[in-house]
Amino acid sequence: MEKIFNYINGKLIAPSGGHFLENMEPATGKAYSLVPDSDELDVAQAVEAAQAAAPAWAAMTAEKRSALLMQVAGLIEKNHEKLALAESRDNGKPVKLASVVDIPRASQNLRFYATAALHDSTASHQQAQVLNYTRREPIGVAGCISPWNLPLYLFTWKIAPALASGNAVVAKPSELTPMTAFLLSELCIEAGLPAGVLNIVHGLGPKVGQAIVEHPNVPVISFTGGTKTGEHLARTAAPMFKKLSLELGGKNPNIIFADCDLEKAVHTSLQSSFANQGQICLCGSRIFVERSIYDDFKRKFLTGLASWKVGDPMEDGVKLGALVSKPHLEKVLSYVQLAKDEGGRVVFGGERVALEGRCADGYFMQPTVIEGLAYNCRTNMEEIFGPVVTLTPFYTEEEVLHMANATRYGLAATIWTENLRKAHRVAHGLKSGIVWINCWLVRDLRTPFGGVKQSGVGREGGFEALHFFTEEKNVCIQL
Ligand code: NAD
Repeated sequence: MEKIFNYINGKLIAPSGGHFLENMEPATGKAYSLVPDSDELDVAQAVEAAQAAAPAWAAMTAEKRSALLMQVAGLIEKNHEKLALAESRDNGKPVKLASVVDIPRASQNLRFYATAALHDSTASHQQAQVLNYTRREPIGVAGCISPWNLPLYLFTWKIAPALASGNAVVAKPSELTPMTAFLLSELCIEAGLPAGVLNIVHGLGPKVGQAIVEHPNVPVISFTGGTKTGEHLARTAAPMFKKLSLELGGKNPNIIFADCDLEKAVHTSLQSSFANQGQICLCGSRIFVERSIYDDFKRKFLTGLASWKVGDPMEDGVKLGALVSKPHLEKVLSYVQLAKDEGGRVVFGGERVALEGRCADGYFMQPTVIEGLAYNCRTNMEEIFGPVVTLTPFYTEEEVLHMANATRYGLAATIWTENLRKAHRVAHGLKSGIVWINCWLVRDLRTPFGGVKQSGVGREGGFEALHFFTEEKNVCIQL
């Protein structure tokens, strides 16, 4: 079986304890590779390597750092097909999706921050006899922890600004999807990234992730994952006064007004409900439809969904691959049962899918649509993070805003209407970090990305992410 290795001090090495975990292929339900079961000793080694590399990396010109990161981006593009296949196999997502979204966005992340760092500036403040100027200094060693749903895409979204702003990095990808981060470490070696600048330690969250967060020489942590894990991390990091960025869960509303372009709303809502098996933090899992078009929307939505094929993610034409793991599939199915217990009617799907051949033991389920639930029941309040959406009718703007804002989350929201004033009004009334009007998942990397309430603390994207990995220092000169 293929072995994945840690990437520490420029070398691919086995974990110090010699233990590996089985890495499962979600589509087949079988182990297909081994991932290091690293521990705090491996993390300590990685931090030491990062500390040793940090001063020279910080002292290097931004142009030289940028050129090295662009080199890595170029190698991602050169290895696009290999990486897309690996991502699909590791995560269960359709290879087409990995090919058009995950892998291109991974190289874009690197290119964006490699060039953004060249265009950043700092302030200076003049008085008659005094000049203040601000320096932005890299913090040292940054800890970057990422989840399994968009593995290489979210991994690079963190390491790119951390590295571009002159920090060394100790990163941990999800133990469920470690393969593309491992392949990236090979590309970093090929690109000539100096040893120790990026270190990747594989393994379990409570062992490796926790050790990174606890390490006294990692003063800045960027984390994307579940709200519960984020809360735990904050408890560890806060007494150590670490800088912390948290991108957490969501339960996003998708609001369909009667005056929308219905065909477009239906088409895009299918994507925003079920892309990546509904395992995108930005998926709109609560669909609110104005009462007068509810039946029409539902009919068109279910008709469109009928053509969404569940199947082998490597196959052409498959829209829904496997869920990431057996426990996750079981969790999502348990929410379908909960919805039924809460009085919901499953109007589409709801069951596990048994495929034949190589995928017979894979973690597949039908895309699922449920109606007839109260807006504030558990199914509508808790993050399911799978191919399950609810349909809820509404009559007025005030009512839908109240229902949309009722969860403890506030990551993203979508609004469908052709009325510009209403679109702005509702967008301003939503308690959400991101609002899409008549579109979904359209990204401009310069814009602030993040959530309010329990969806997170801080913003990624743009110069904000570069600045997060620096400390400002003011220098005051008497002229
Ligand atoms: P998770 O919280 O279980 O794990 C995320 C990462 O944290 C993994 O690498 C994991 O190993 C690590 N981890 C686990 N316990 C840890 C600990 N005690 N200390 C340090 N690290 C630890 O989340 P997941 O199941 O991998 O991802 C799904 C969640 O991520 C969903 O809630 C989803 O909404 C969220 N998410 C949010 C965004 C966003 O931008 N807001 C993006 C993608 C996913």
